[in-house]
Amino acid sequence: MSGKVYLIGAGPGDPELMTLKAARALGTADVVLIDELVSRGCLAHARSDARVVEVGKRGGCTSTPQEFIERLMVLHARQGHVVARLKGGDPFVFGRGGEEMQALIAAGIEVEVIPGITAGIGVPAMLGIPVTHRSFARAVTFVTAHTKDGAEPNWTMLVRSGATLVIYMGIARLAHIVRQLSAAGMSPTMPACVVENGTLGNQREVIGTLSSLAQDAKQLGSPAIIVLGEVVRLAAQKNGDCHHLSRAA
Ligand code: SAH
Repeated sequence: MSGKVYLIGAGPGDPELMTLKAARALGTADVVLIDELVSRGCLAHARSDARVVEVGKRGGCTSTPQEFIERLMVLHARQGHVVARLKGGDPFVFGRGGEEMQALIAAGIEVEVIPGITAGIGVPAMLGIPVTHRSFARAVTFVTAHTKDGAEPNWTMLVRSGATLVIYMGIARLAHIVRQLSAAGMSPTMPACVVENGTLGNQREVIGTLSSLAQDAKQLGSPAIIVLGEVVRLAAQKNGDCHHLSRAA
C-alpha cells in the first residue's frame, strides 16, 4: 500500500499561525521533512515517534538539493508512509512547492496541499500593514528578488502599477533594489519597511521610506521581507512611531 504526502504551509514563523488543518495532517505523519525556515515549535503537533528530517535550503548556505528532497518523499511514500513536507509560509509562494507537487504526481504518489499564511501577507499584517487597504492600494504584487536565471523583475512596470510591492528574498540585494526602484520612478518618500524574522520573538523591523531604507536596514538579514507602498504608513501609526516617515517627508 502506498502512502501519501502532505505539502504543508506552516505559516510565516509563529507556530500559532499554522492552520488547524496543517496541525492535524502533521499529527498523522510517520516522516516529517522540515525546511530550515519553519519554526521548530510547529513540531509540537507531530507524533513523538515521527522521524524528523531537516532539509534546509537557505540562499547561499549549504542546502539539501531539491531532487534529493523529492526522492526522499517518493521513497517514504512508496514504503507506505505518510509524509509531511513542512514548508515556510504557503507551500506555493516562492517555495518550490509547485515543483514538489509535480514530482510527486509524476511518481504516482498521492499528494494533498495544505495552504499556509504567506510571509508577504502575515508579516506585514502583524505590523498593522493591510497590504491592500482600499484608500491606498488596489493591488499587491509579490516579487522575488532571487530568480533561477538571474533575471531582474521589470521594476518600471511594477512601480507604474501602483500596487503595494512585497519583495521576498531581497535583503541581500536591498541597496540594489532601492536603486532600481528609484531609477524606475518610485518616489524617494514612498513609505517602506523591512521586517526580519517576522512574527517571531526575535523580529526586527525598520520602517521608513524608499530613500532611508538601504541605510536604516543595513543591520537586518535573512529571512526578511521588504514592503513598499502607501499602506506602510499604517504601520507607523499603529506603533505610534512616525519618526522615520516624518524625518524623510
Ligand atoms: N513559502 C514562503 C516563502 C519562501 S521564500 C512563504 O510563503 O512565506 C523565503 C523568503 O520568504 C525569505 O527569504 C523571506 O523573504 C520570506 N520570509 C519567510 N519567512 C519570513 C519571516 N518570518 N519574516 C520575514 N520574511 C520571511
